[in-house]
Amino acid sequence: MFAILAWGSAIGCAAGAAAGGDVLEVGLAVRDITPPVPIWLAGYAARTQPATNVDTPLLVQALALKNATGERFVFVALDNCEVSGEFIGPTLRRLEQRHALARGAVMVVCSHTHSGPVLEGGLLGMYPLEEADRAAVVAYGRTLKAALGEAVEAALGSTRPAMMEHGVGHAAFAVNRRVQAAKTWRFGENPKGPVDREVPVLKILDTNGTVRAVLFGYACHATSIQGADFYTVSGDYIAYARQHLEAVYPGARAVFLTGMGADANPAPRGSLLQAKRHGLELAGAVVSVLQRPMRPVRGPFQFAYAEPELPFQPAPAREQILLESRSDNRYVRSRALRYQRGFERGDPVPSSLRLPVAAVRLGGDLTFLAMGGEVVVDYALEFKRAAGGAPVWTVGYAYEIPCYIPSRRILQEGGYEAESSLMYYGWYGPFRPEVETIVVGQVRTLADAAGGLK
Ligand SMILES: [Zn+2]
Repeated sequence: MFAILAWGSAIGCAAGAAAGGDVLEVGLAVRDITPPVPIWLAGYAARTQPATNVDTPLLVQALALKNATGERFVFVALDNCEVSGEFIGPTLRRLEQRHALARGAVMVVCSHTHSGPVLEGGLLGMYPLEEADRAAVVAYGRTLKAALGEAVEAALGSTRPAMMEHGVGHAAFAVNRRVQAAKTWRFGENPKGPVDREVPVLKILDTNGTVRAVLFGYACHATSIQGADFYTVSGDYIAYARQHLEAVYPGARAVFLTGMGADANPAPRGSLLQAKRHGLELAGAVVSVLQRPMRPVRGPFQFAYAEPELPFQPAPAREQILLESRSDNRYVRSRALRYQRGFERGDPVPSSLRLPVAAVRLGGDLTFLAMGGEVVVDYALEFKRAAGGAPVWTVGYAYEIPCYIPSRRILQEGGYEAESSLMYYGWYGPFRPEVETIVVGQVRTLADAAGGLK
């Protein structure tokens, strides 16, 4: 059932620690991936034309970790709504091969800004692109992949010893967005719904005490910008938080890892001004952690990765799918055509999808738990409960985003994250209820393989 399970050697790490192997090396690199305009932006089905303005630059940032024993791992923070496995997989495999990295050792984490360019694969069927628009998307995708590869290689090639410290703050602008209506759940603000408002912070210092980087996270859709500012390229609140942080820690890089908050929106939402305000609040939460004593975090890191199969409910009959391939509804048609192309290749109807999941543990001090997809908050809360207060940093939108990853609760309740969003991603469904048990079990197995949660 589990395609891949790999982990850094515990024996190697123990031997390394005895020889001063608790010192981690860190490498950093950044590339600007701001697109030329006009270009179509991803995330909102309501857009009717390409973007014509640029608000903030978009970045791809790589943060490489290297053990004394030579193992390496790279976090890649990418300013984009989402990447599919089809789009980014070949780039990641090439990087792994060229640098003799373990499968999954390059973890791309999308910021999920809804004001970044559309990419090929995944949600492409959601947008009514003209021929020239499509050419711009293809060209931009090529540039993005090249820049991502360059950033990863530059980070791997520039590692040097680092010290690290961890702390957790809070920011209040994430609000649960699922509101119960008569028979289903609609979008809105649900102040009583579950949410993860923690702001994890990792300070990375040179051995002389200079701050080199600030890694921070938050579990909330990057959808501050709507309406009048729909046609503007922006990193949303994340880009502003980075700018604020880099202004008050000159010379340091601020790097954001998106949390598991696919059912949370920023509140209030609206114009670019809201993105600036949320960015200021988030940066403030990070600074308040950085200004006070933090817990030291040591190396070496240990890493474990797997791709569990998440089962779907049975798809409709082939005749129904063929009928839907001629639907007037663009989304219905696009999903059916995707399955029809599979029929033509002789593929079976998909009964499951593989989801990348990983655990990265730094010394005995901090564990990152990461999942692909748009992960709802129940997973973050479950992992933090399981850790019993030990530091856990939950990361969503990791590696690739095949669709939402709902919990058992959300599958029971229904609504967008459980059902209707699957059509945009080109899947029939919904998932079977055991998906949460499968994912949580697999992630906890990985955490144990990387040295345990506590
Ligand atoms: Zn989303």
